[in-house]
Amino acid sequence: MSTNTVIEQNIDWGFLERYLAERDPHFARHWELLREARASLEENIIVSRGETGQTIASSFAERVERLRYQLLHEREEVLDGEDFRAAEMLDLLFARLSGQGDRTPRRAIQVVHDESVAAEAVAQLEACLDRQRPLEDVLASARRLTREHFAVSPTVHGGREQDQAGPNGSTGWRVLVYAPLYLSSYCVNYCLYCGFRFPEKVPRRWLTTEEALEQAQILTNRGMRHILLVAGDYPQKTDVEYYSEIIRAIRGQFPVSLAVEIAPQSTAGYAALVEAGIIGVTLYQETYDWQLYQHFHPRGPKSHYAWRLEGLERAAEGGVKRLGLGILLGLGDPLPDAKAMVRHAAYLKERFADRRIAFSLPRIHEGPADFVIPHPVDDETLIRLYCGLRHAFPQAELVLSTREPPSLRDLLAQTCITQMSAASSTVPGGYRAGAEAVEDQDGGQFPVVDRRPVEEVVAMLRDAGHHVTWQVPEFAPVTK
Ligand code: SF4
Repeated sequence: MSTNTVIEQNIDWGFLERYLAERDPHFARHWELLREARASLEENIIVSRGETGQTIASSFAERVERLRYQLLHEREEVLDGEDFRAAEMLDLLFARLSGQGDRTPRRAIQVVHDESVAAEAVAQLEACLDRQRPLEDVLASARRLTREHFAVSPTVHGGREQDQAGPNGSTGWRVLVYAPLYLSSYCVNYCLYCGFRFPEKVPRRWLTTEEALEQAQILTNRGMRHILLVAGDYPQKTDVEYYSEIIRAIRGQFPVSLAVEIAPQSTAGYAALVEAGIIGVTLYQETYDWQLYQHFHPRGPKSHYAWRLEGLERAAEGGVKRLGLGILLGLGDPLPDAKAMVRHAAYLKERFADRRIAFSLPRIHEGPADFVIPHPVDDETLIRLYCGLRHAFPQAELVLSTREPPSLRDLLAQTCITQMSAASSTVPGGYRAGAEAVEDQDGGQFPVVDRRPVEEVVAMLRDAGHHVTWQVPEFAPVTK
C-alpha cells in the first residue's frame, strides 16, 4: 500500500467547527484562530502572494501547526477517525498557509503501526532477526549489500588523503568519520533513562558561540569535516536563534557540514536552521510504542509523541537533506520498534524521495542510579538489527556511536556501518586541544565506551579496506 494518498477532500469548515466545539476545551480561542487564518489565506491569494500577505499567512501557519499538535497530544489516548480527519484538514490548512499548496497530509502516526506499509522491507528485517538463520550468513549478506551500494573508487574523489584505499583494496566501502559537538546539557525533560534529565544533579554547561567555535576548531584540527551539534531541550537557552548563530559562525569559519540532534522544531524553525547552514537532522523516536513512550517520557515537551514523531517530516519540509532515525535499545522489545521505524522510513522516503535516510541504534548501557534497563539487548540482537536495516534499506546510512565497545564497533564497521563517530565527548566543552583520546569527564549524557583516538579508529577502518571520508559526500562544504 502506498503510504501517501492524494488528498481528495477539501477543508470542511463546518466539520472543523463542530469538531472543535465538541472536543476542544479552548474552542472559542481556537476557532477564532482558524477563522482569522482562513481570512488571511483568502486575502493572501487575492493579493497574489504579496510580501505582507505571505508574512501574515506564515505566522498563522505556525500557530495552526501548533494547534494541530496540541489537539493530537490532548487526544492521543483516544484518537479516532474524527481526530484524524480534523488533523488532516488542519495540516492541509497549514500547508496552504505556509505556501506548500495542497500536498498530501501528514499521517506518520497512522503509518508506523500499519502492517500493510513497507511489508517487504519489514520482512527483510525480520528474516535477519531469525535465530534459525546462521549469523555468519546474515553478516555476509549485509556486507555484500553495503559494498554494492557504498563502494567507491579512490580516483572518484581525486586521490585526496581522505579517500585512500585501505590495504585490502576494493573490499571495503566509504565510511564517513564525524564527531558530535555538545552545546548544552540543560534540559527540561524527564526521560527516565537519561543523565541530563531534569532535575538530575549533574554539572550543567551551555556554550557561547565563542566556546562552540573553540570546540569546532579542536575537531577540525583532528580532521573532522562533519559535525553533529547536540543539545538538551531547554527553550530559554537553546532556541532557533541560538542554534542559527552558532551554525552561521561555525560555517563561516570552518569547512564543515553540520547536522543537529536537538529538540524537535516547527517547520519554520527547521527552515531557519537550513538557512543558517545545516544539512541534517537526527531525531530518535526512542520507542514507537505509545504507552511505553509515555512511561519513559512522563514530563516536559518530549512527552508529546506526535510532535516528535513528525519532527523529521517537518525537517524535510523545511529543506533538511539528511534525515536520521533511531530507536533507543533497552526500552522495549526491539523488533516491533524496529519494524515501526522501517515503516516510518519508508513513509519518509516515499514523501521525500531525494532525501538521504540514516539509521542509528543507540543502546542503553547505563542510566541514572534509579534506572534499571527494562529490556537489555544483547550483542547478537544489535548486530542482527543493524544487518536487518541494511537489508530493508540497502542505500541508507547506518550510523554507529562510541557508546559501543571497540571490538563490536570494529565488527559492525566491517559489516554494514557507513558513518561512525570517533573520540567523542558527550560533555559540552569536553574537547581539549592536544588531548587525542577520550578523557574521564563528569556531566556527560552517556559514557563513551570506545575511547580510542581518531587515528586508531581511522586505521581500523583502513585495515578493513574502507575508504575513510571526512565530508558528507554529496555536500562538500564551502571553504571560506
Ligand atoms: S534524552 Fe534528551 S530530552 Fe531526554 S532528558 Fe536527556 S537530553 Fe533531555
